[in-house]
Amino acid sequence: MRTSEQRMDGTGSTALPQVTLIQPPVTDASYPALPFSIEPLSLLVLAALTPKDAFRVKVLDGMLRGERRRLLDPASALVGITVVTPVRDAAYELAAWYRAKGVPVVLGGCHVTLDPEDARPHADAIVVGEAEEAWPRLLADFAAGRLKQEYRPAGPESFDVPAARALVSRYRMKYPFISIIQTTRGCPNTCEFCVPAATYGQRIRHRSVESVLDEIEQTRRRFRRKTFGFTEDNFFADRRYAVRLMEALVPLRIRWASQMCIDIAKDDAVLDLMVESGCFAAFFGFESPNQQALDEARKRADSREYPALIARVRARGILVIGSFTIGYDCDDDGVYDEMVSFCRQTAIEVPLFVSLMPYKGTALFDRLVRAGRLAPDARPGSNPLALNFEPSRLAARTFARNIARMYREYYDSGYLLRNLRHWFRRSHYKKCLLLIVLYLLYVTFARRIGRGAFLEKRAGRGAGGRG
Ligand code: SF4
Repeated sequence: MRTSEQRMDGTGSTALPQVTLIQPPVTDASYPALPFSIEPLSLLVLAALTPKDAFRVKVLDGMLRGERRRLLDPASALVGITVVTPVRDAAYELAAWYRAKGVPVVLGGCHVTLDPEDARPHADAIVVGEAEEAWPRLLADFAAGRLKQEYRPAGPESFDVPAARALVSRYRMKYPFISIIQTTRGCPNTCEFCVPAATYGQRIRHRSVESVLDEIEQTRRRFRRKTFGFTEDNFFADRRYAVRLMEALVPLRIRWASQMCIDIAKDDAVLDLMVESGCFAAFFGFESPNQQALDEARKRADSREYPALIARVRARGILVIGSFTIGYDCDDDGVYDEMVSFCRQTAIEVPLFVSLMPYKGTALFDRLVRAGRLAPDARPGSNPLALNFEPSRLAARTFARNIARMYREYYDSGYLLRNLRHWFRRSHYKKCLLLIVLYLLYVTFARRIGRGAFLEKRAGRGAGGRG
C-alpha cells in the first residue's frame, strides 16, 4: 500500500531514499501537546525544495497530539530537524536516536543559526542561516556521499518558494484554522531583544506578489482555506510592497492576520486597505506602555500614542493581539498592575504577557553577558514566566507569580463575555466566532498560565533566586 507521502509527492517509488523532516515537540510538561496546530512552514518549504526524482519526503509534526510516537521512523535515509530554543532538548534527543541507528541528521532553524556551537555536536551537518539555497546543495552532497559538517547560504537568499502543503494533508483536520505564508523577511528596526532582527537582518526582502497570490489560490482551491496568516515579523517592513500585496488580495476575499508595528495605524488609507483586503486581526509588539522601557529596548515607538492608535485599529473592526514584555531595567514591582490596567483601558482583545527573553545572538543577550547578569541555566523561550537574568529593580522571587496573576486578572471569567458583547453590539458576528476560536487558541493557553501551569517548573529557577 502506498503511503500518503508517496501519493502526494507523485513519485510513488519506495526505492527512493526517504528524507524525514521533523518538527520536534516541546517536551516541557507545562506545554500540552495540542489536538490542533499550525502547519510547520519551514519544513514544508524544505520539502518543496527536495528533488522528487531523487528522494521521498515525509514531514512529521511533533507539536500535534498523537504524533510524537511517530517521530522515530526507521525508514529514514536522512533526517532534517528544525530547532527553536524551546524544543532544543527534544531535537537533540531525536537526533541522538537517529544517529545511533546510523541515519545522518541535519539540524537547522533559528536556534542553530543563533547558536551553531550548541547544535554542532548533535548533528552530522548543520545549516546556519536561511536554508532555501543550502538545502538542495546539501541533498546533492548527501546523494554523492560527501555530506559536509556545515552549510551556509552562498549568496543573497531568495525565499520565493511555495510550501509543499500537500505533504501534510493527512493532518488537515489538525491544522483547521489557518494556513501560513511568509512574504517578507527583514526589518529596518533594531529592537534589542529581537530574534528575527538577529537572523534576517535589516535588509528587507520579499516574495513576488504573483507567487504569494498563486500559493493562496492553490491552498484555497485544494484545501478550501479562506484564512491566512502572514508570518513576517513586520508586515509593513516595506510599506510599498505591503500595499501592493493588499491591493492584490482584495478580489480574493480571504481573511488574513499578521504582525506589524502599531505606527501603521496613523495611516487611514492603509487601515482602510487592510480592512478591504480582509485583515481580521493584527499582532502588535507593544512591549510596554512605559516609554523608558521602549527606549531601553531600542523600540522605535511612542507609548503615549498607543491608546489612540489601538482605538483606530479596533474602530476598523480589526482584533488587536498585543505582546507585552516584562523585565526591563526600568521595570519595578508596579509594572504588573500598570500593564493590566493599560490593557483594560485600551480594551486589547488578546494581550500576552511574557518575560523579556535574552535569546543567544541578540543584542540583549550580549549586553547581559557583558554585565554578568545572565543566569547560568538561562533557557529563554522554554517558560514564558521565567526571568532568565538578574533583574535590575524587579523582585525575582515573585516575578513568575506576578505574571501568572496578570493573566488571571485579565482573562477572568467575564473576559469572553465582555469582548463578545463589544463585537456583537457592532454587528461583527463573524468576529464573535473568531474571538471564540482565538479564545480556544491563545486564551486557553493564557488561562493555563494564569492557573500557574508554569509556576512550579522553571520559573524562579531561571531567576536563580537572585532578587
Ligand atoms: S520592529 Fe518588530 S521585527 Fe522589527 S526589530 Fe523590532 S521587534 Fe523585531
